Order: sequence, then structure tokens, then C-alpha cells
Amino acid sequence: MSFTVAITGRPNVGKSTFFNRMLEQRKAIVDDVSGVTRDRQYGVAEWIGRTFNVIDTGGFVAGSDDVFEKEIRKQVHIAIDEANVIIFMVDAAAGITNLDENMADLLRRSTKPVYLVVNKVDNHARMLEASEFYSLGFEHIFFVSSISGSGTGDLLDAVVALMPAESDAAEDEKEIPKFAIIGQPNVGKSSLLNALIGQERTIVSDIAGTTRDTIHTHYNLFNKEFILIDTAGIRRKNKVNEDLEFYSVIRAIKAMDEANVCLIMIDAGKGITAQDLSIFAMAVKKGKGIVVLVNKWDLVEKETNTARDYEKQLKQRLAPFSDVPIIFISVTEKQRLLKSIEAALEVFENRQRKVPTSKLNEVMLKAIETFHPPVVRGNAVKIKYVTQLPTHAPTFAFFCNYPDDVKLPYQNYLENKLRENFDFKGVPVRLFFRKK
Ligand code: GDP
Ligand code: GDP
Repeated sequence: MSFTVAITGRPNVGKSTFFNRMLEQRKAIVDDVSGVTRDRQYGVAEWIGRTFNVIDTGGFVAGSDDVFEKEIRKQVHIAIDEANVIIFMVDAAAGITNLDENMADLLRRSTKPVYLVVNKVDNHARMLEASEFYSLGFEHIFFVSSISGSGTGDLLDAVVALMPAESDAAEDEKEIPKFAIIGQPNVGKSSLLNALIGQERTIVSDIAGTTRDTIHTHYNLFNKEFILIDTAGIRRKNKVNEDLEFYSVIRAIKAMDEANVCLIMIDAGKGITAQDLSIFAMAVKKGKGIVVLVNKWDLVEKETNTARDYEKQLKQRLAPFSDVPIIFISVTEKQRLLKSIEAALEVFENRQRKVPTSKLNEVMLKAIETFHPPVVRGNAVKIKYVTQLPTHAPTFAFFCNYPDDVKLPYQNYLENKLRENFDFKGVPVRLFFRKK
């Protein structure tokens, strides 16, 4: 399931301030495409247990009026094309400007829901002034201060209210595994798809993707059934060159949303890039299964421990989540392609693993007995029992007397014990601490 919020608005209204607040961190993918637009940003936000994509469609640093005009149209088009809901941001301190009115004209024609968000409403006086924005004629209007955060909770509630309900976890189990191959341009994604299609026993049938942005291909390969989600071949017409990279990242994120397991492909020669790490972090945040494919291994000069050392260094970059299969492949030499698919299938199985409560408590209570949670502010934290919740991605609830006092190092200890005892390789797990 893919759900995307686009933030659009003229420069300096506070889009990136709001964006960073939504993400609560600066782990966005930044795409600095041209001298005219400033960075476009993508990220994954989480609100009341739901995750969704956020795109900040960007601002401008300089330019004549017609550059502005062109840029505005482009921004609005990106928002209308890619988003499920558009946040149209304006600035209470500045009041309504011509650019706001131009954008409003374009956005009123959108069939997608538009939330008019009046930012910089930092105090009561601003609130009174802000009422002029009703004249723009949008049904949904929110008054926020991105700096203090006031009003942003109501806005995020309204965003999440538009998301479809989460489907039943049980449905997922009957599903055919869905894999997305994700990676930088030229890393070898299409070559891998072609190599798999070239296998004799492949039955290829295209099923229309759940969105028009992805192609789902059904495989029956090596006696295994799975669906590969492809974005590589899709190129929209009428898009100027500088936007290709931008759209390819959005496509990749949508493919990730539709997949159970992401095959994150990196180039052995180049190593893992900052953008690969952002993609990896997104997949973790979305609770997707992950396999890392190190492609073009044929080009690497190898000695006895090359793969071992490479893997060790890569895991350090991936930390704290490094319990991930890493496979050294060569698409052109057809090395370890079967192994890659097998690893993805294994991760798919691991992601569906449901540990019986009795077994879980037997193992985890013993681990807790061996190493108690540290005392915090004089509170002896006691964890009474553990249960796995019936969610898509593995989630565990630990019931205890002082849930807020179970700190990160101890959470990591518990996660490691879970991983030692039950196979969750390639799968992000979530731990919740609840009052009992
Ligand atoms: P963008 O160009 O739309 O992305 O705008 P920025 O996020 O870069 O913000 C432009 C300026 O407005 C910065 O100086 C921000 O600190 C400021 N700003 C953003 N949100 C608020 C707010 O809620 N209140 C006030 N007073 N200033 C804000
Ligand atoms: P994409 O942009 O990720 O889809 O990448 P492509 O599949 O188009 O591959 C980009 C280039 O890398 C092509 O010239 C491929 O032939 C080459 N390539 C792909 N896989 C390998 C590999 O395993 N080894 C080598 N040496 N080249 C590869």
C-alpha cells in the first residue's frame, strides 16, 4: 500500500521546516537537480502507527518571473501526479501573494484532496490575520506553526484519516511474495530482470500494478512463485530531463511500498552510497524485508577474504540493522542469481514468522532473567511477559511496570536475543513496551 503526501507552496512559506518536523529527522533523500530549484526532498513519516511518504516539491532560489511561473506549474504537476493528498502551504506572516493565488488556481482543478495549510501561525494575533486565507476557497484549512509544532497534530490526523485501513495480516499470508529491485541508475536492475526473464522456465505474465507507476511480473522460476515489481522501464513522456532522477526515486519508493521484500542492489565497485543508505533506512522504517545484492562482483579483484571483509564493512554502514543477507552477484556472469531469489524467499518467510507466545516467553524471560533491565531513577523495571502482535511486519509487545524506563541499549539487547533464537534475518522487528 502506497500513500504519499506532497507539500507544495511558494518559496519561504516554511515547507522544508514542516517537512523536517514531519520526519523528525533529517534523513531525507535530497535531490539537488538544478540551479533553479533548491533541493527536493523525500522521506517517510510516521504518525499514530501509520507510515506514509512525504515529498517536498521544492522551492526556488532565483529566477525571473517566467522561471517562477514554469517552476510553479511543475511543482503543482508533481504534487497532483504523485500524491494522494496535497498540502498547499501559505504564510500567515506574509499574507496572500500573487504566487499563492496562481498556485491556488492550479490546485483547485486537482481531483486529489488539497489541504490548505496556513503556516507561521505562531500566536493569537497571527491567527486573526490568517483568516484572510479562507478567501482562497479551499474546503479544508489548517492553521499551524511549523516551528512550535502547534496545529500540526490535527493536520497529520487529517492526513492519516485519508489512508485506507490496514488490511488484515492474515490476508498477507496467502500472498505470493512480491519483490522490488531497487538501486541507483546503472547498478544493473534491468539486467537482472532480463536475466530472470531469459530463464527457460519462466512464465511471464504482466499483471497491472496497483498503481500505474509499477509493473508486476509473475514468475515461476526454479519452482518458486513470486512477483517482481519493476519500475526501471517506466519513463513518463513530456518530462524534462532534470526530472528523471526525481521521478525514478518516487517510483522506487512506490515499488518498495508494494513489495514485501526489497532487493537493494549496490555496485560493488562504488560501494554503498548515501542515497542507498537512505533507501535502506526507508525500507527499515516501512518494515519491509531486505536483501542486499552487491552486483558487478566480476569486476572486483579478489583475494581469499575479499567478500568477508567487504561484508563486514558493509554491515558497519548498515548498523544498527545489519542482520541482513548480503549476496555478491554478477548479473552478466549469472552468478548467484538463484541464491538471490532464494534469499528473498527466505526473508519473505521470516517476515511472516509468528512465534507462539509460550515459546517466546520461555526464551525471552530467561534472557531477561540472565540480564535484568537496568534500574532507572530508582525504578526496578520488571518485564512480565511478551507477545507477538498480529501485524504484517514482526512486532513484539513487552508488558512491564515502567515501560518508559526500558532504554535503547536494553531494547537492543532484547532484539538481539530475539534474533539469536528466532530467524528474523532480513526483517526489521519492532519492540513496544506497554504498561501492565
Ligand atoms: P520553504 O522555502 O517553503 O521550504 O521555507 P523554509 O522551511 O526554508 O522556511 C522559510 C523561513 O520561514 C525560515 O526562516 C523558517 O525558519 C521560517 N519558518 C518556517 N516555519 C515557521 C513558523 O511556523 N513560524 C515562523 N515564525 N517562522 C517559520
Ligand atoms: P539499471 O539502470 O540499474 O537498470 O542498470 P542496467 O541493468 O541498465 O545496467 C547498467 C550497465 O551495467 C549495463 O551496461 C550492464 O551491462 C552493466 N552490468 C549489469 N550487471 C553487471 C555485472 O554483474 N557485471 C558487469 N561487469 N556489468 C554489469
